[in-house]
Amino acid sequence: MRYALSFASEYLKNIYVNRTRQSIKTVHVVSSALKATSTWHGMRTLQECREACGGQGLKTENHVGHLKSEFDVQLTFEGDNYVLMQQISKALLKEILVAKRRNKPVKGLGLARAGPSSAQAIIPSHLTSSALRTAQFQTDIFYLRERDLLHRFETEVSQREARGESMEHIFTVTYQIAEDLGRAFSDRLVLQTFLDVVATVPAGSLKDVLGLLRSMYTTIVMEEDASFLRYGYLSTDNAAVVRKEVLKLCSEVRPHALALVTSFGIPDALLGPIAFNWIDANAWSSVSDNDTLKDNDTVFSFFTNML
Ligand SMILES: Cc1cc2nc3c(=O)[nH]c(=O)nc-3n(C[C@H](O)[C@H](O)[C@H](O)COP(=O)(O)OP(=O)(O)OC[C@H]3O[C@@H](n4cnc5c(N)ncnc54)[C@H](O)[C@@H]3O)c2cc1C
Repeated sequence: MRYALSFASEYLKNIYVNRTRQSIKTVHVVSSALKATSTWHGMRTLQECREACGGQGLKTENHVGHLKSEFDVQLTFEGDNYVLMQQISKALLKEILVAKRRNKPVKGLGLARAGPSSAQAIIPSHLTSSALRTAQFQTDIFYLRERDLLHRFETEVSQREARGESMEHIFTVTYQIAEDLGRAFSDRLVLQTFLDVVATVPAGSLKDVLGLLRSMYTTIVMEEDASFLRYGYLSTDNAAVVRKEVLKLCSEVRPHALALVTSFGIPDALLGPIAFNWIDANAWSSVSDNDTLKDNDTVFSFFTNML
């Protein structure tokens, strides 16, 4: 996931640096998508790390708790993530409505392929591990979800508008589908930038590992986002295949995990003892001159003597 989001962030930096008056809307929508997706991902990662490290995840010197409390605000400030999802959906809706009014094909915000005129993607009724790992299937299902949700959102908004409801009321009562659509746009955008990056890498072991990471990203999104089941893009049988594939991919990525993490180049000074030899770090010889521990020891002796 972090690799996928890093590629997408590079894309955002690029379109921001080369922005024009025409592209500024795209910069706004893409940054809304990536701000929300990255910060939600950051919080979930920290929680996952906390639990995966057991009690060590709660030790101050391992930084997880501190980072969680520091990071949490990012889900809200600079635009609440749910509100950003709604902004994305409104921008997509506007894009479709303007194209319809002008009787022209929809082009902006990556909708050219996701627009209603594009061919319907065929999702196999019995997914296999190899089908799940193809870029074609991954692209098809992500675009299918985005296109279908956009169609549903547009239909609901126009039906309510025809009944004379105010736009303010309409956007309040359609927030659930707007959120699903915002997420579908963000996930498709991230996948598209991943594919664009991998296309520039020559055949070899790096491309193979990136292929594994791309499959891991797409299967985790499919497994965790309820919209794939809710709207029927995945049958329950296919959802079970996706879930099993996540486990297989984890074991295939495992031998590369340390190299992948090291490649981010995070300085040792920023890491807690859990990133190194945590057994040594917890040995009595390492902690016996720790004042806090001595204090704790005194407190412990005090209560033991009382019993
Ligand atoms: C540490 C910190 C620093 C900040 N710095 C700045 C700053 O420098 N400049 C600045 O201008 N602002 C700043 N803010 C304000 C920040 O931008 C707002 O807190 C943020 O936009 C959320 O708005 P809110 O607090 O009014 O929450 P609300 O918008 O009331 O959100 C509360 C809850 O309601 C939900 N909600 C809100 N609207 C909808 C909707 N339409 N549909 C569905 N659910 C909805 C949200 O998802 C959220 O769960 C800062 C905030 C913090 C905490």
